[in-house]
Amino acid sequence: MYWQKERMNFGSSRSLMADEGCSLCGKPPVARLIDPERRLCAEHFVEDCAARVKAGIMEAGLLAPGDRIAVGLSGGKDSTLLLILLHGIVSSCTGVHLIAITVDEGIAGYREETVAAAVDLTTRLGIEHRIVSFSDLFGADLDVLLSDREAEACTVCGVLRRRALAVAAAEMGATHIATGHNLDDEAQSVLMNVLRGDLSKLLLDTSEGLPDCFIPRIKPLSVLSEKEITTYLLVSGAYTDLPECPYAGGALRGEVRGMLADLEFRYPGTRWRLIRSRDQVRNLLAEEVSQGVLQRCVRCGEVSSGELCSVCRVLGR
Ligand code: SF4
Repeated sequence: MYWQKERMNFGSSRSLMADEGCSLCGKPPVARLIDPERRLCAEHFVEDCAARVKAGIMEAGLLAPGDRIAVGLSGGKDSTLLLILLHGIVSSCTGVHLIAITVDEGIAGYREETVAAAVDLTTRLGIEHRIVSFSDLFGADLDVLLSDREAEACTVCGVLRRRALAVAAAEMGATHIATGHNLDDEAQSVLMNVLRGDLSKLLLDTSEGLPDCFIPRIKPLSVLSEKEITTYLLVSGAYTDLPECPYAGGALRGEVRGMLADLEFRYPGTRWRLIRSRDQVRNLLAEEVSQGVLQRCVRCGEVSSGELCSVCRVLGR
């Protein structure tokens, strides 16, 4: 059943033929990937994904002795795979430490299960884990903060979660924050920022951080698509069926997701090309962007691109 569901959608509009074996060993394939074109069985697919994530990390010059990487672990599939892969990669790197932070936004009927999954995973892997909550940091759960403004759920949640993660990471002495954003998330964000005309957000690159201001943020899973992540977890037996956030599917992201999925199906490589275009524009404008003025928020003192930081804006303070 899983084969039937996945076989049409991987990387190309052409379907996988059940009688075509893995390009490396001839076993039944679970996915066909492009660039280069290859069909892979479960074992080689898992290896291929892990190798691509590792190559991206090494290319970015990460994982030097003394690095302390804080993984934002929601307990969902993306961050679960990120922690599993980083745990494997880091275990062969001397002097690199992995820690995990879970942000409990306070979403009734949803967060409890994912927090439990995060606790279970970090316990099994033996990774130091901290849980921080919106109620402790901002005085109220997300459910309360959203009364009368549910339509803004993901904006409010995203802004506060980024701050919560940054605060906890700084307290835990992290040198990098790693988040589970995948290829689809990244491509959707590019298109959403273009559609909103938000050039500063489109060009913002937080991967290098800013001394004494914010910790570098890395996205090692951005080389894998959502389908690849789900497939990896399924074939490796690490998949857990968890509830979906009741606020998920905000209007614009939902539409962009559908649009991009359709374009990717008809024109394989669309997501990559979008991300590459953003990176090229970033590089072209690097000087102008780096000259952008950062200042301290007049209310809370955090780094901000305006008089008020985004957290103070969404909290209305
Ligand atoms: Fe937060 Fe939106 Fe994600 Fe729910 S779907 S956890 S509200 S960002």
